[in-house]
Amino acid sequence: MNRVKKVAIIGLGLIGSSIAHAVRRGNLAAEVAGHDASADVLARAQVLDFCTSLHADPADAVQDADIVILCTPVGAYKAIAEQIAPHLKPGAILSDVGSVKSAVIRDVGPFVPKGVHFIPAHPIAGTEFSGPEAGFASLFDGRWTILTPVRGSDPGAVERLKDFWQALGSQVDVMNAGHHDLVLAITSHLPHLIAYNIVGTAHDLEKVTQGEVIKYSASGFRDFTRIAASDPTMWRDVFLNNRDAVLEVLGRFNEDLSQLQRAVRNGDGKTLFDWFTRTRAIRRAIVNTGQDVPSFGRLPFQVYIPPPKKGGAKKKKKKPGKTKKNKQVARKAAPKTKKRRAR
Ligand code: NAP
Repeated sequence: MNRVKKVAIIGLGLIGSSIAHAVRRGNLAAEVAGHDASADVLARAQVLDFCTSLHADPADAVQDADIVILCTPVGAYKAIAEQIAPHLKPGAILSDVGSVKSAVIRDVGPFVPKGVHFIPAHPIAGTEFSGPEAGFASLFDGRWTILTPVRGSDPGAVERLKDFWQALGSQVDVMNAGHHDLVLAITSHLPHLIAYNIVGTAHDLEKVTQGEVIKYSASGFRDFTRIAASDPTMWRDVFLNNRDAVLEVLGRFNEDLSQLQRAVRNGDGKTLFDWFTRTRAIRRAIVNTGQDVPSFGRLPFQVYIPPPKKGGAKKKKKKPGKTKKNKQVARKAAPKTKKRRAR
């Protein structure tokens, strides 16, 4: 992509700081301006040094920015959009990273000034950690980012945002917001709801002690606890803002669970065996397409997979994800990474 003058990031947690690191890794912008509502986060971002300027007021951060990306929980978008709208430069791209898309269009769309390109986006990449220390440059490498342009979006601007995400290391798909919300309801939102539920149920069980739950967690429970450690604020906002799609897949899930329940009660081994064989094939397909990264978020030294080049001869370049500096930043950040706190 063509290097831009300025990228502004609103919300400097896991996703916002990872974008800043990846912009720096790829030398994609002359300036990365950051804003966060929390003075504490701003102070920590200053120490971590992934932005070129930090601002207590979001209006200052977006001034003259070519690309503005909202990276806060989606429940905060509406107020932020209202605040920054008069300060957006004509021709700028206003985007986001929110895990739901129809609600973002509903909340942000009305504030977008004429001449500003509003193109919502969602990187399908993350960890159960939060905060500025959790970010790392390779978070998006090889993962997918979905763009959900709104009616009348300028195709040239969509193309520029696509180039930007590819330069961050991501693969890019484009789809409408409603379809995104349904796809993510089954691939992400429902699994989180199930994890929150199973961990809550285990916690409340009277005949099994909490000590036993923790001691024998390697038998399956442990993997649910990783997902159930995800940020309460972010996930509350996801379920409040993707209600219809989540309820639709939850209904389907309950029907299937009843079928499994019946098979267990009736000792119907064939149904269980066929079911588990089908799901095993899905797991293998995920591994085969490279979408399984077992140590993701705990070992931030991923192999950098450069985005596919658009035609032209291949030029040998130093792999930016492996520079000494990036490794040092990641090493420095890793031990400080905290679990998300309840808010
Ligand atoms: P995070 O680590 O908690 O970071 C969010 C940051 O935004 C925090 O520093 C928070 O400060 C700040 N913030 C909250 N309200 C704000 C406001 N009104 N103005 C400015 N800053 C504000 O969360 P994250 O994981 O990066 O998630 C951010 C967004 O990315 C969410 O919309 C989420 O749906 C999306 N997303 C997340 C993942 C994931 O796996 N985590 C993956 C893809 C997309 P405080 O901590 O002080 O509240």
